[in-house]
Amino acid sequence: GTSLRLNVRCARLGTRFVLLLAQDHTEAQRLDEVRRDFIANISHELKTPIGAVSLLAEALEPAADDPAQVRKFAARLSTEAERLARITREIIDLSRLQAADALASPELLDIDSVVAQAVDQSRVAAEAMGVTLSAGGDKRVQVYGDEALLVVAVQNLISNAINYSPPGGRVGVGVNRTAGVVSIAVTDQGVGIPEEDRDRVFERFFRVDQARSRNTGGTGLGLSIVKHAVQNHGGEVRVWSKLGRGSTFTIRLPEAARTPATESIPITGT
Ligand code: ADP
Repeated sequence: GTSLRLNVRCARLGTRFVLLLAQDHTEAQRLDEVRRDFIANISHELKTPIGAVSLLAEALEPAADDPAQVRKFAARLSTEAERLARITREIIDLSRLQAADALASPELLDIDSVVAQAVDQSRVAAEAMGVTLSAGGDKRVQVYGDEALLVVAVQNLISNAINYSPPGGRVGVGVNRTAGVVSIAVTDQGVGIPEEDRDRVFERFFRVDQARSRNTGGTGLGLSIVKHAVQNHGGEVRVWSKLGRGSTFTIRLPEAARTPATESIPITGT
């Protein structure tokens, strides 16, 4: 009796153990696949600009007697070099963000200041594209975080909003605080994102329109950097979009608890 029950129990535990191992194995396999995909993507993304740099360098020598040609090739070389630098920087940023699940030393930050910096950094691009950029919403909202990282996240959203807007479009950044959650919403009146692609835009190197993204200097890494930066703050990023009408990307972060104004404590002598 007892030994049979014990055997059955052992067998059950054994099965469970094997199942756990199998699960672990598939998780390891999945991670391995993700890693291999990432490397394959990186080499694919680097191949084009590296190829262009080699071709342009080769073309320079025979064009040596034609200053106009030399200038043209030199300008294109510098564009390709900038592109390579950007891809490399973003790959490094993303790898760092993915390696950490949380921030090393979060600080108390004003969201006003984060948004103001991101907007300032986007002014030139907005002007170049004929897009009006504005910001507003709740003031004196605070979160714990890494200021530089949050500025990068908001700036990436603004930069996309500008790039995927028509000339004359408006891009708005709104800050809102409700029930301990701070949201920063970036809204555009641009091309929008097809429904089937809405979850995928946060994947590394995913682009709805390859050609358009490359033309605007996009790497396909911006939104995955935003996603990981926000996740490291214990937050999330969501997208709402209507094809042909526009998109809103919203970063949601836990609000820092408000500290009551410091009161003077009466000194009571005994
Ligand atoms: P990219 O460098 O290509 O902009 P991202 O990771 O920032 O890379 O975005 C991924 C893709 O999501 C873009 O290629 C684009 O197709 C789509 N996307 C991102 N933001 C917007 C937006 N505001 N409006 C329309 N499409 C967008």
